Amino acid sequence: MKHCPACSNESFELLIDFGTIPKSGVYLDSPEAPFPTIHLAHEFCTSCGLIRQKAIESGSHDYSRVDRATTRQFPKYIDQIIRSLSYYGIAPDDTIIEIGSNDGGFLDRLSTAGFSRLIGIEPSIACNEISRSKGHAIISAHWDENTAASVLNEHGAARAVICRHTLEHVPHPLEFLRAIRSILAPDGIVFIEVPDARPITHDLRGHELWDEHLHIFTKTNLQLIMRQAGFEVTRCNAWPERSDINLLLWATHASAGNNAPNAFDLEQLDKDVELCRRFKRRWHNFIVRVQAVATHWPKPVVMFGASHPQTNFIHFTGLQSIVDLFVDDNPAKSGLYLPLAEPTPIVSSSALINETLPGTILRGAFGYEDWMDRATAPLSCGPTIVARAYDSSLLQSE
Ligand SMILES: [Zn+2]
Repeated sequence: MKHCPACSNESFELLIDFGTIPKSGVYLDSPEAPFPTIHLAHEFCTSCGLIRQKAIESGSHDYSRVDRATTRQFPKYIDQIIRSLSYYGIAPDDTIIEIGSNDGGFLDRLSTAGFSRLIGIEPSIACNEISRSKGHAIISAHWDENTAASVLNEHGAARAVICRHTLEHVPHPLEFLRAIRSILAPDGIVFIEVPDARPITHDLRGHELWDEHLHIFTKTNLQLIMRQAGFEVTRCNAWPERSDINLLLWATHASAGNNAPNAFDLEQLDKDVELCRRFKRRWHNFIVRVQAVATHWPKPVVMFGASHPQTNFIHFTGLQSIVDLFVDDNPAKSGLYLPLAEPTPIVSSSALINETLPGTILRGAFGYEDWMDRATAPLSCGPTIVARAYDSSLLQSE
């Protein structure tokens, strides 16, 4: 077993094993279409609570064919991140590199804010076409030491490196961060944004254990891995966004002799590890209660949302035979099927109102309460019952 990239400990324990399930993000054109599966299991470091997938499949980190654009998902705090660059002394003509630039949405914001020397690094072919059509300089590559060396050779060191929602997707996060350090100017700043593990382990949001996330960090072990990679963390905040919490971290090159976590960190590490240890039993107790309630849900049962949070929730709770229909207003998904126990169709909310009277609505579009309120309002005086995915009465602690 490999050692922990955040703390070098070699001892890991099983967090949870969900068995073999369909890979997320796969939509079928017909009920007969084949689909890939994954054996999804997670383990945690017994020293720092870092969660990682137990078996990281080769090819699972290749994003060159992924075409998911994320611009419309920007959090409210995005302007504050951009303003922070000026606080750290980044000038408009300093080189800023964004790793995982997706479709160039954040580069757009940097450009609008007056920063002119921008380079995006991104493997997705489809996303890079969008970025380049907007005039951005993009290097098509996965980030590693080789990419870093060629960027450094061609463009020189960066005063700022931005890396949002990418570190959790990579198989070797320590090497990934060291490659960032190798291109950062001595007075440069790096900004890292990742989802926080706390909603999973503390609030039991198990659906966040997504097959694309190979490592899941806490505020404490994120700081540990940054120190391992040779950075000094200047600020690390947990910011709520919709139904999630994101960790926002700023760091510089480490000054000599500052490598130990402080006393508060050590206490928090123990708490994080204990939460990981309790997760499996708490999740098992939760799904026993959910399944008992779900057997009484009037049919058809309609799940709101047709993305990975919803399919994760259904597969992880064992409700594959209960859900009859998904509702999603993304036109790219309407008319397709998701692989559950049977291939399960996706319809738009207007089609739902006009064509199918749900027996039960499962409010699973986490963080999109307004959309669910609007979409379900016409059904409120009918016989439909509404169930919350995480009913607080089913979330008793043990
Ligand atoms: Zn560790």
